[in-house]
Amino acid sequence: MEPQPIQRLEQEVVNRIAAGEVIQRPANALKELIENSLDAKSTSIQITVKNGGLKLLQIQDNGTGIRKEDFEIVCERFTTSKLREFEDLHKISTYGFRGEALASISHVAHLTITSKTKKEVCAYQAEYCDSKLKAAPKPLAGNQGTIITVEDLFYNMNVRRNALRSPAEEYQKISDVVSKYAIHNASIGFALKKHGGNNDIRTPNNSNHTENIRLIYGSSIARELVEFSLTNDNLQFTCKGLMTNVNYSTKKFQFLLFINHRLVDNQSLKKCIDTVYQTYLPKNGHPFVYLSLELDPNNIDVNVHPTKHEVHFLNEGQIVETVTTALEQKLLGSNRSRIFYTQS
Ligand code: ADP
Ligand code: MG
Repeated sequence: MEPQPIQRLEQEVVNRIAAGEVIQRPANALKELIENSLDAKSTSIQITVKNGGLKLLQIQDNGTGIRKEDFEIVCERFTTSKLREFEDLHKISTYGFRGEALASISHVAHLTITSKTKKEVCAYQAEYCDSKLKAAPKPLAGNQGTIITVEDLFYNMNVRRNALRSPAEEYQKISDVVSKYAIHNASIGFALKKHGGNNDIRTPNNSNHTENIRLIYGSSIARELVEFSLTNDNLQFTCKGLMTNVNYSTKKFQFLLFINHRLVDNQSLKKCIDTVYQTYLPKNGHPFVYLSLELDPNNIDVNVHPTKHEVHFLNEGQIVETVTTALEQKLLGSNRSRIFYTQS
């Protein structure tokens, strides 16, 4: 058989494929948008969802806003106010750096941006399609900050849309992302609701981690929490967090992990921690653990995965082991003090 000729894909097809890698489901899109709001120094972030985020995903913040003159290019790929040089990547302190989120969303959904900076007297609103502004931004009344409205996600990707058939499941994933960011960023107020409904999540600003865990996950978890804190100069990391003591046990391990303030997964750390608890909890019982790990940005590569979900770092094995050992010590300590307490 003769080989088929190699042809260049049309730009539009390339863009949609790339966008589909960054934005895999409504919860990914929301994670990017929350991170943008945090990068913009917001203190209040409100999210509204219709049909599991597939019909509508809206996020309103009170951050710095987007300058009117930036509306033209804000949704183009690789336009960012954050990164300037490749060398800056290792010391980046913002979540965003690639200028890819808004561009990607505009390739797979109908995107509207409304924003007002402190300087401007009114807000501006514009619609985007495939990275491009559809018409000149319209002035309108509004408060400082940004509203990003994402409608009909994956309207032009039938297969993807059909694969995400359960709005309830998508809402659950959205709620999971909001819960975790709200707990980690306790100084910032978060709210999540279904369109036309009441808030399902609401945290005040200037709150704290324990209080937000109580508000979101309930007092049965919050009252059994033990504080955890560890610094290791050798391996150049700090680790802080809250973990349930041996009085608490649940069917599914609830693990909230932030590495340099990014919500990530790390299967090896998760497994090790779960194994530690296995000795102390009833059979099939698991804990609730929230950890914030901070590594030297030089030892970490954030640019390995399109959704930035996975973060690789130097000395991973040793760090996992050190954290796990310290956690077990803490757990043992809390267990012992409980016994003393009940005996006295
Ligand atoms: P990145 O975050 O990697 O820079 P994005 O596509 O997520 O890329 O955003 C592009 C730019 O749009 C950001 O660099 C920022 O200047 C601006 N922006 C996006 N969302 C917001 C927001 N909520 N508030 C203020 N500026 C924003
Ligand atoms: Mg971003």
